[in-house]
Amino acid sequence: MPDSGGDSKLAAKDVEASLAHQNGAPKQQPAKLSTTAVHGGERGGRPRVADALTTPIVQTSTYHFRNTAELIDYNEGRFESYEYGRYGNPTSQACEAKIKELEGAEDCLVSASGMNAVTSMLLSLVPSGGHIVTTSDCYWRTRQFMQNFLPKMNVGVSVIKPNDLEALQQALDSHNVTLFFSESPTNPYLRCVDIPAISRICHAKGAAVCIDSTFATPMNQQALALGADLVLHSATKYLAGHNDVLAGALAGRKDLVAKVREFHHIMGGVVDPHAAYLLLRGIKTLQLRVERHNASAMEIARRLEAHPKIDRVWYPGLASHPDHSIAKSQMSGFGGVVSFEVRGGLNECISFIDNVKLPYIAPSLGGVESLIEMPAVQSYWGFGPEKRAQIGIKENLVRFSIGIEDVEDIWEDLVQALEHVP
Ligand SMILES: *Cc1c(COP(=O)(O)O)cnc(C)c1O
Repeated sequence: MPDSGGDSKLAAKDVEASLAHQNGAPKQQPAKLSTTAVHGGERGGRPRVADALTTPIVQTSTYHFRNTAELIDYNEGRFESYEYGRYGNPTSQACEAKIKELEGAEDCLVSASGMNAVTSMLLSLVPSGGHIVTTSDCYWRTRQFMQNFLPKMNVGVSVIKPNDLEALQQALDSHNVTLFFSESPTNPYLRCVDIPAISRICHAKGAAVCIDSTFATPMNQQALALGADLVLHSATKYLAGHNDVLAGALAGRKDLVAKVREFHHIMGGVVDPHAAYLLLRGIKTLQLRVERHNASAMEIARRLEAHPKIDRVWYPGLASHPDHSIAKSQMSGFGGVVSFEVRGGLNECISFIDNVKLPYIAPSLGGVESLIEMPAVQSYWGFGPEKRAQIGIKENLVRFSIGIEDVEDIWEDLVQALEHVP
């Protein structure tokens, strides 16, 4: 390796000792998730810059080589460095290493947004003329991409109900299916797919399984260990966790992530270093936040279910949820989003929403601030009432992302707002 030259403290090759080495612990022993959230990707082998404790934001668009020999060493994998900003930066790579460890993945790719991860994954893995299977409840932009854009590329799309395994088998038998892709839990009805069963059925036919685990986070669900080949996140939500940055992540099988990464390098959906820093910082408190989200959401869901102005609550932690037993078998917590139907229709629901004082009326979820929205008005207004009914978005549906505020303050606010429902 070429001489780094200069002050050894600033040399890129002067790396942090790994945590395992410092503790004398066996390397293969996986750290507990809260420890991994804090230290993963940041204690083994990262460049040491000015002895900073945190992984720095390196504000550069390109990287230099000392001479041609070093560049050739880089090209052939003998010298580790960076080449050009579109291919990643030290902060985004630390994020990738952290999420990779949290998901128990072989590899991870972080990108500029969740939708960038979704579209890059589908475009690079599914060939023209290929076929995918997805589920009926889903983030609306993902649905839009699969149903309006993929067919233009001659990709067929079968939409099944979240746990209709017969329909899945039928789709696999009648098409050459490349990929099964579903959220679990889904947006906004928190439907859960049986990841081990679906993976078994898909793998028998050579189809890969990708789970959008945004609502669960790696703290509540280890999608890869359950059988999926890939796990996807809108890291904008719980992973970053503070409603202040957009990012996406895709983790899982090395060969599949490599294909997506190659395409991603062409498309240019890189996450910028500052956004990556916010994501890295957010993940450090993920375990603490998710614990609070889980506990508060469970409590609010139970209380809402007993409230006379509420018709129905959708939360996988409740026995009344259609996928409660699946959720119990594959999740260690049920997350911070609770959806519910306010007694009446659109106008009654608006009377409730317009009187909440603590949550912001806003799209998105997974942050420290509680956010509340009516999907019919927020994301699906342009569809009109008939199309909404057709795709199952109820007029009186509320999606509530419960923040980390005091649960009694949240409940008190909901109760006073429900008093305005006629
Ligand atoms: C928000 C969201 C996305 C899209 O992610 P962005 O970061 O907003 O691009 C995809 N899937 C799910 C389940 C989401 O909630």
